[in-house]
Amino acid sequence: MNDKKEFVRTVLGDIDPKEMGVVDCHDHLIKNGGPEVEEHIDFLMIDINAAKKELQNYLDAGGKTMVTMDPPNVGRDVNRMLEIANDFKGKAHLIMSTGFHKAKFYDKHCSWLKTVEEDKIVAMMVAEIEEGMDKHSYNGPVVERVSAKAGIIKVGTGYASIDPLEQKSLRIAAKTNLATGVPILIHTQLGTMGLEVVDILLKLGVSPKKIILSHLNKNPDKYYYEKICEKGVFIAFDGPDRVKYYPDSTLAENMKYLIDKGYQKQLLLAMDAGRFYYQTAYSETKGHISFGIAYMLTHFVPLLKQIGVSQDAIDDILINNPQVALAFDNSKRG
Ligand SMILES: [Zn+2]
Repeated sequence: MNDKKEFVRTVLGDIDPKEMGVVDCHDHLIKNGGPEVEEHIDFLMIDINAAKKELQNYLDAGGKTMVTMDPPNVGRDVNRMLEIANDFKGKAHLIMSTGFHKAKFYDKHCSWLKTVEEDKIVAMMVAEIEEGMDKHSYNGPVVERVSAKAGIIKVGTGYASIDPLEQKSLRIAAKTNLATGVPILIHTQLGTMGLEVVDILLKLGVSPKKIILSHLNKNPDKYYYEKICEKGVFIAFDGPDRVKYYPDSTLAENMKYLIDKGYQKQLLLAMDAGRFYYQTAYSETKGHISFGIAYMLTHFVPLLKQIGVSQDAIDDILINNPQVALAFDNSKRG
């Protein structure tokens, strides 16, 4: 049977992974509310024109594909994202996410993540991936699916611990991966619990090639990274332009360390510019000058080159590795 063709699932349909070009593996264009916005108003990003301009800046810098990692209930806006995707048809590929964030963002007693049986939530996730996303992002009580499907499942874990609700969402993500082949991206809190998350998913039967760990850059420990790379999974370093945590050089040098150790096939890059002032175009609407998503290509990649990272490694990180990490696992699909 030839439905074994490799594909990645974008908002506008399945494509050959080779069509993705340069990929930003974890980002945000729109966030329409949810618990992050309760924490800080900067997380609210609902200006379609600003989002389009930001995406265009990224394309102008050489980008082509963006994975937007907003799960249902945490700012995902199917309608606005569809409008953007349609506007950039033939120019950019957008991938959207289903799944979960960290347990902190869910009511421990009465959220659907808590009360609904595990296998029923797996069915909800599979439907988002195989039938179409709920345009209300499971904010309930009505589910209305659009034709656009989710192309990745997110799971969140907390700082230095994995809550029971997070363990449940990890099991759900694994079962959803086994049913559909969908890749899994994990929000680690400040880069902690990465090894433990990987062990849980591997034990449940997920291929290491479909596991992407995010935010490890916030725990800038190259020996820890090495241990994780030994497991065969991907690390999405998503933190250039975040001097409040560490300078770019820390991330660049740690990446070079891993490349020199032979792990260039397991590294991915992203900006995770999930706040209003992390983006150039949103900032401009308030008269601010700031860097944005294009920074990954205009500033950070040149820094990698400056410290001696080869073009071959950069091509792997930006183009070739995402083709493996973001493709659906055909061995898991009937
Ligand atoms: Zn993010």
